[in-house]
Amino acid sequence: MEKPTALIAATAIIVTLAVLAGVSANDPGMLQDVCVADLNSSIKVNGFPCKAQFNASHFFSDVLVKPGNTNNTLGFVVTGASVLRIPGLNTLGLFFGQADFAPGGLNPPHTHPCASEIAFVLYGELEVGFITTANVLVSKTIRAGEIFVFPRGLVHYQKNKGRLPPSIIAAFDSQLPGTQYIAATLFGATPSLPDNVLSIAFQVGMEDVQKIKAKFAPK
Ligand code: MN
Repeated sequence: MEKPTALIAATAIIVTLAVLAGVSANDPGMLQDVCVADLNSSIKVNGFPCKAQFNASHFFSDVLVKPGNTNNTLGFVVTGASVLRIPGLNTLGLFFGQADFAPGGLNPPHTHPCASEIAFVLYGELEVGFITTANVLVSKTIRAGEIFVFPRGLVHYQKNKGRLPPSIIAAFDSQLPGTQYIAATLFGATPSLPDNVLSIAFQVGMEDVQKIKAKFAPK
């Protein structure tokens, strides 16, 4: 009789954990079948108000049909299908995106304040990693068909290791995960952070701060 009891106890623990995971999901739960975002509404709520009428087009996007253009300083581009592109995602707590890399391309250190990220390598080879709040770097080389997870809010990066352009598909548990690129956030904010704040924070001279700021000046 011990085995069934142990099984029931294990099942109870698993169900409890599943429920807790559901309760602690990042976006609030749904209160109706669908709530297609009315992106033009003047009403401000947490998320977007629901449209009165909707159709299949509100749940569709072809934004990932073509690969993104990686011809930029970082050799990297992300194409996201958030609630802003698929209004039917409103209240569903989901986001789907693709990241394309040129040879040597880098998705620089950044965080998503509202979501964890699970990334699947379509093709190529990348070095990826995140840093815990205890300042431990958790990194790995990942290849086509493999998956890596980036916990919510932690600083992370993805770098193309190969000579060919790799591509990643990533899912997030928020309709709008938000992205803060660390360097651009600190050195390219508007209005600008005071030079002396950055100078003390980074333990470098004002000239160095101004040099980096010039690279991230809003265009
Ligand atoms: Mn990310």
